[in-house]
Amino acid sequence: VEITYMAAGSECVRVIVRCRPMNARENQLTSKNVIQINPSTLQCSLLAIPSSHNEVNDTTKTFTFDGVYDQNSTTEQIYTDFGYPLVEGVIEGYNATIFAYGQTGSGKSFTMQGVTSPSNQTGILPRAFDHLFESIAAAEGMKYLVFASYLEIYNEEIRDLLSPDFKKKLELKENADRGVYVANLSQHAVHSVADCQSLMENGWKNRAVGATLMNADSSRSHSLFTISVEMMETIQEINGEKQSIRKGKLNLVDLAGSERQAKTGATGDRLKEATKINLSLSALGNVISALVDGKSKHIPYRDSKLTRLLQDSLGGNTKTLMIACVSPADDNYDETLSTLRYANRAK
Ligand code: ADP
Repeated sequence: VEITYMAAGSECVRVIVRCRPMNARENQLTSKNVIQINPSTLQCSLLAIPSSHNEVNDTTKTFTFDGVYDQNSTTEQIYTDFGYPLVEGVIEGYNATIFAYGQTGSGKSFTMQGVTSPSNQTGILPRAFDHLFESIAAAEGMKYLVFASYLEIYNEEIRDLLSPDFKKKLELKENADRGVYVANLSQHAVHSVADCQSLMENGWKNRAVGATLMNADSSRSHSLFTISVEMMETIQEINGEKQSIRKGKLNLVDLAGSERQAKTGATGDRLKEATKINLSLSALGNVISALVDGKSKHIPYRDSKLTRLLQDSLGGNTKTLMIACVSPADDNYDETLSTLRYANRAK
């Protein structure tokens, strides 16, 4: 028996799946591979486990996405196919958001931050830095101001990953001029790829240090790296010059691990945390599926800090890419199914 899930695609939201290779532990446990990727049909199948005699996993489930990437795929390829056009838009004055979704250990950071070697596995963030500054260098008659910020949302509390006092909680504010923004979030002028790279590395370190100080688990936080680009163009006219200003914003989001609390055995504060994390992930899912659906008058941005903060970068004429990361191993079957369902809903 085979069940095939399909959803109508949307211009502004793209959803892709990336499956990581088996890790050493899974190989040692001789885990079975339950993921089959078919790039020519854009399908990802979660194979049945017939021996389990379980009504959930006794059928192969096939999902169709905008892109599917198997365990040998590279971040270079993903960037060329889906990242590049989004970042091009930012340089033209549009907002764009890239999310990595999936259970802890599924390859979100591998995809977003990446590794330095091999070079085709350099992450989406450093690739976007390169891309932006190359385009800026090549543009003529334009002036650019580029700023970066880096924050995390843990337990619905916002912290600045680039401030010396990153234990301090920041408030979300809203006004007519700026829309929704984080009060007192540090903004860093960046002039090169190296500037961005060092902010990314410092913020990532602070995320781990902060988690230790607060006795928290960093895999349970969302991290958001934002690059804002202001472009000033001087246009020559018969009777003098005219200045035109455009603004674009790129949001790069490494989401909290999507695993459900039952499996993590959380109790007390941790259980409360887990509930909030699942709440903000489901709020994001609701926003994206309302956008994709196109018929909803009400987009529930206000349901979580993350969706409120990204309100101006989700929907409208902005572009969104969701990268759903999965493990190929049968022992992660339930979490993988839940990730594929979430991603399929977003499509
Ligand atoms: P997450 O951020 O989702 O918790 P990570 O990105 O840290 O997961 O990945 C978990 C482990 O798997 C890391 O050791 C990472 O290097 C490895 N890994 C993830 N994806 C890939 C991939 N596509 N190719 C090779 N190794 C990967």
